[in-house]
Amino acid sequence: MSKKIVIAIDGFSSCGKSTLAKALAAKLEYVFIDTGAMYRAIALYFLRNNISFNDEQEIKEALNKINLRFQYNSVSEKSDMILNGENVETFIREMHVSSKVSEVAAIAAVRDFAVAQQQAMGIEKGIVMDGRDIGTVVFPNAELKIFVTADPTVRVNRRLLELQATNPSITLQEVAENLQHRDLIDSTREHSPLKQAEDALVLDNTHIDRATQFEIALNWAKERIVLS
Ligand code: C5P
Repeated sequence: MSKKIVIAIDGFSSCGKSTLAKALAAKLEYVFIDTGAMYRAIALYFLRNNISFNDEQEIKEALNKINLRFQYNSVSEKSDMILNGENVETFIREMHVSSKVSEVAAIAAVRDFAVAQQQAMGIEKGIVMDGRDIGTVVFPNAELKIFVTADPTVRVNRRLLELQATNPSITLQEVAENLQHRDLIDSTREHSPLKQAEDALVLDNTHIDRATQFEIALNWAKERIVLS
């Protein structure tokens, strides 16, 4: 039997990381972890409980009360985010969470909390994890690191289509502003900013479709699985 590897997928918001990660995990029969969902659930908890983003003690106490887990949903064929026993998958994708999540994800204690859980999930390998710091901080020794990029206009349009499915009144401007806002905070924050790992392979999907992107990434994964 071939050895299992860790696949780390990073990149800016809405460049198709999760779609790629999910497809790779399904094909390889690996576990797929969307780490953005974890930061979104923490942000939702902070917003619901009026946790001050500047109060270290309040943040510490809040994190002690947060339990995160993923639960497979056979209808969407994805894992839903469960926050303290509640399925919050729909809520964490709403704009009021999207507009605050990057501020929450920039807090050192929040990152320590999430990263420790992510590293524990990868101990057995056989995992595809997507996020912003997976190849740089969470799994610096991952056998395959992919940095996904796409032209900003393409990303905004893709995200708009996705969000319009549940929120028909959402505008292009709202989506564009949110992506810009998150990308700026994510790539300039002090703690584990989004950056391409030196040994990451870049996958620009501006001009290629999902199937092609998947084939490229799958070949990279197969090469590493054979080598490992
Ligand atoms: O991946 P998604 O866009 O759902 O992530 C939401 C937010 O969570 C990002 O904009 C970023 O602020 C944060 N995030 C992070 N590190 C990760 C994954 C997500 O800081 N590994």
